[in-house]
Order: sequence, then C-alpha cells, then structure tokens
Amino acid sequence: MKPAKVYLVGAGPGHPELLTVKAVDLLSSGDVIVYDRLIQEEVLALAKPSAERIFMGKSVGRHDSRQDEIHELLARKAREGKTVVRLKGGDPFVFGRGGEEAEFLAAEGIPFEVIPGVSSALAAPLSAGIAVTHRDAASAVAIVTGHEARKDQNRLDWQALSRIDTLVFLMAVANVRRIAELLMAEGRSPETPAAIVQMAFWHDEHVVTATLGTIADEVERAGVKPPATLVVGEVVRLREKLKGSERDLRRRPDSRSRFEPSPGADQLLRLATGATGSQLLGFALDVALFDALEQACPLAALAPRVGLDAGALEEMLEALVALGLVESTPDGFRNLEIASRYLTSASEQSLKAALLEQVASSTSWQALADYGRRGPAGRVAGIPGGAPADGAGREALARFIAPAVVERLDLAARGPILHVGWGGGAYVDAIARRWPELAVTTCNPFHAPDPLAALQAHGRTGGFGCVVLSGLLASCARGEVDRLLAAAAAVSSDRGLLVLHDAFLPGSVLPPADLLLG
Ligand code: SAH
Repeated sequence: MKPAKVYLVGAGPGHPELLTVKAVDLLSSGDVIVYDRLIQEEVLALAKPSAERIFMGKSVGRHDSRQDEIHELLARKAREGKTVVRLKGGDPFVFGRGGEEAEFLAAEGIPFEVIPGVSSALAAPLSAGIAVTHRDAASAVAIVTGHEARKDQNRLDWQALSRIDTLVFLMAVANVRRIAELLMAEGRSPETPAAIVQMAFWHDEHVVTATLGTIADEVERAGVKPPATLVVGEVVRLREKLKGSERDLRRRPDSRSRFEPSPGADQLLRLATGATGSQLLGFALDVALFDALEQACPLAALAPRVGLDAGALEEMLEALVALGLVESTPDGFRNLEIASRYLTSASEQSLKAALLEQVASSTSWQALADYGRRGPAGRVAGIPGGAPADGAGREALARFIAPAVVERLDLAARGPILHVGWGGGAYVDAIARRWPELAVTTCNPFHAPDPLAALQAHGRTGGFGCVVLSGLLASCARGEVDRLLAAAAAVSSDRGLLVLHDAFLPGSVLPPADLLLG
C-alpha cells in the first residue's frame, strides 16, 4: 500500500484560538493524531470522532528512547494508509525535534508536510506585554535553548549572545541562574531587565520580572515551573506600558489534565456504544482481555492466556477491531490507546468497573461466555458470573467526571464546600488543585442505610457556600430525592450554590456521552 501523508503540525502555545486554519483543517480530517504534552484538550476535541488519538509526550526523565518510538509510530500508521497529524507545541521546527521527525520520514520515503505554528518564543513574551523588537529598544532577537548553559558551553557563543538586544531562552527554568551568570560574565549589565513567562495562554500564566542580577532569585522565590520562557533585554522595561486591558483570548484551565487527558465526548460515545450495543465488551472486560492486550499478542498465545477457544476469540477480536478498541498488527492484536486508557484494570483512568456495572445491569453475557469457552464445536463448563461490587462503577464514573464538573464552576469566593455522594476523593483533589484554600467536607450517604440521616448528620454545622450532590438520582428512591435536596438547601449558607452532578437516567441505562459530561 502506498503510505499516506504525515503532517508535522505546529499547534501554537496550546490555545485553540491560536491554531492556524490549516491546523484545524488537518485536525478535523486526520485519521491518527499523535500529540505532545503541551496541547490543550479543546485542541484535541477538534479531531474527527473516529480519529485515533495517541499521546506521545515525553515523561520527565525519559528523553531519547521515546523519540525513536515516535518515529516508528508515525511511519507505521502512514504505511497503514492513515493520514497522520503529528501535533507539536508551538512551531514544529523551533526546538521541537520536528526537524528530526521530518528527516526520518524523508529517509523512509514517507510523504510529509510541515505546517508552521505560533511559537512560544514569540507568543510567550507577547502574552506578557513584551514586544521583542520594540523599535526604541531592540533591532535583533535571538531564540536560544536554556539547556546548553548547563553543559560546557561550547555550542553557544555567550560573548556574541550577550551583545544581542533581546534574548529569548526556551527550556530555561532549571538554568536561569547559570544563564544570567554567563551573560553577566561577558559584560551584560546586571541591571538589564529580565522576565520569565510561565504557561503563556494557559490558566496559570504567571510573569515574574526582575533584572539579570536578580532574576534567578525571583524565579526561585516565585516557584516558577516549566514550561516557561525567559526574556532578557531593554524591551522588558516597556512591558508596563504595553500590558493591555482584559483580553478576548480566554485563559484555559490547564491543571494536570494536559498530562492525563480525559476522553472526548466522541470517545465516550464509542465506549458507550460498545457497552450497550454489545455484550461482547462486557465479556471482554470480564475476562480481562484488554489487560492481556497491552502488548501485541498473537492469537495462538492469547487464547490459552484468557482461556478461550482460538476460533471464537478471533471472531470477538475482529468485532473489537471494528468497534475501534483494538488493532490488528503483524505481531498480533493489541489495544488502541482508548482501550489501554479506559478499559484496563491498571490504568488510573479506567472505566472498567463503570462499564461492567452498566453492562451487567442491562444484559447478560453468559451465552457469549459459553460460546467463547466452548468454541463453535466443543462444550466446556460456563464461567462464574458476577456483577462488580455495588457502587464501584458509579464511583469510577464520578471520579473521572469530577474534574470536568469542577472545571465548570467558580468556587473562588464560596467558602466551605460539602460534597455528598460518589467520587468524593476526586472532588476533593479537583477542588484543591484550583482552590487550595477551600475547605471541603465529603460524605457518601449512599453507603448508609438512611442517606437522609447521614446527610443531615454531616451538615449539622451548616453554612456551606456550595453543596455538591453527585449520583443522587441513580442512588435514591423517588421520594428521597426531594428530601435530600431540601436537606442540602438547609445546610447551605444564604445564596449558597447547589451543584447537581447526575446522569438523570436510571442506572440500568448508559446515558449518552454529552449527558454524562453535562
Ligand atoms: N516548539 C515549541 C518549543 C518547544 S521547547 C515552540 O515553538 O513553542 C519547550 C519550551 O517552550 C518550554 O521549555 C518553554 O520554554 C517554551 N514554552 C512552551 N509553551 C510555553 C508556554 N505556554 N508559555 C511559556 N513558554 C512556553
């Protein structure tokens, strides 16, 4: 097969409104999206529903080997005839290793094209009101890696750099002190203004300004963390004048979600369709098939591992391939990203328990289980059935949806918060990440024989600025809902906020994805 094309696409600083039109176009048509760490979820949400999204960010401390994996992945997907969009932060050719990827693809004879992006080298200073070549103060700007400062310096001419009007250092946080020392040693004045811009265009954008002589101490004191961009030069001084008023580009919450992306509505829909439309998914989860498919495994080895007839298993795997959960490779079957993340037992984001509960309450897969063990011909005893422990599924769903709910709230000035229901731990974490100062009390009365009494006991102190109820409708009998709501209102402060997070459908029906997130 003729390989499809690989697009190396700059995603800009992460904000969806800062993508190029071409990037949006490619995102919405690409079959496979391979993305890095610094990509916001709203950007990924632009991908077409059936696109496979593969996270290939570098984890801290793992640098080199991953790059080979990326190369191999891009080539493999293109050879399968899939259009690949390799999405990279900023501009692909500015310290993004896009050059190496292009070189590799060229060597492999795979067609590719590079689409520029808004580089943080220019966008981060801009976001802080720094015009890098302001006419009064600078006629040149150099974009420099901060990594070299640590090494024996031979790849950078610090004397030459020290004479350039504006210097922009990427990947600079760890080496700010060394960079400043090297520049001052070459005669740059310690009074030169300097600024560091953390997470430009993200929720936690933060700017620290100082001078070359003091910037390292200030960065340390402010606890600046990567990614951040350092700017040195007189242009920083003009910042006060240029800081605009409120801007249209919204700051997006970044939190940790960029490292642990949650599924898009379309992915949930695929999972939901799989769950309700097919007993197969329940059965596959029950026999831990996805756990066995974390690494590619040929059919002959897989069948005995999960205790199934090879012929029957092959049919099931083909159905899972059609559902877009598993892929068939020359080395055997293996999970697609979506299955690894949401259907295995070990993944922190696993929805396995939730889906098992849903499937168990609506269908029985016993017949399929029998067929799976027996194969088309033989006959073997059935498998022990059994639904997951009560509540585990609801807890798993709530845990995973809590951050999305919290993201939609503004609790800053609300005062103490009472969470009642499923997923308490996840709510506590998600709230603490955004508003560390808020006190959160959590209780799950649905474990208790009398939920109402449990809530009333918890809320005795009253005066909660916000009461969050999760899983109320699915867990209560009809009349209890009214009483629980009234009890929640009673423990709220005047004008307190009441948040209901619920699926609004009986537990035996898996709600559509947008409702799940709504
Ligand atoms: N190709 C990217 C740069 C990759 S190197 C680009 O053109 O933007 C990664 C470095 O970019 C980080 O260490 C940091 O210095 C900078 N960076 C990336 N995103 C940033 C952001 N939102 N705010 C400030 N600096 C950022």
